[in-house]
Amino acid sequence: MRCDLSRYQEELKHLYFGWMTPEDKAFVHHNWFGFICHRLVAPRFQAAFGKIVQKKLHTSLKTFDGCFNPRRMRGSGSWSTHAWAIAIDINAPWSRFGQTSFQMSEEVAKCFEDEGFIWGGRWHRRPDAMHFQYCTLR
Ligand SMILES: [Zn+2]
Repeated sequence: MRCDLSRYQEELKHLYFGWMTPEDKAFVHHNWFGFICHRLVAPRFQAAFGKIVQKKLHTSLKTFDGCFNPRRMRGSGSWSTHAWAIAIDINAPWSRFGQTSFQMSEEVAKCFEDEGFIWGGRWHRRPDAMHFQYCTLR
């Protein structure tokens, strides 16, 4: 379903798809603003983005790199949490998978963690700093 972020449109309108150009606004749709995710997690995503805006951290968000994506995990046959649309990737070009040095602020991560998300940046074996998911599976 839609994770409508219309109320944060002013603050989040600069986000673009990481695999495209800054002109490709990630959250802009024909008649709403946001992205598609699992319906039970939508309120959690909304709350996390709300905290980010409230703490004025939204300027550190640059790209939206996807939520729903029916794919398997890297090097494994299991479904990725993206297949369930309960995970989101942010700032991927600066926080590549497996990189131990990355640019994802602890403060931004905390906004998601406070809402129950698991941050991939805390995984010791192959960290995934761009990744936030709403379950404990890997
Ligand atoms: Zn991810």
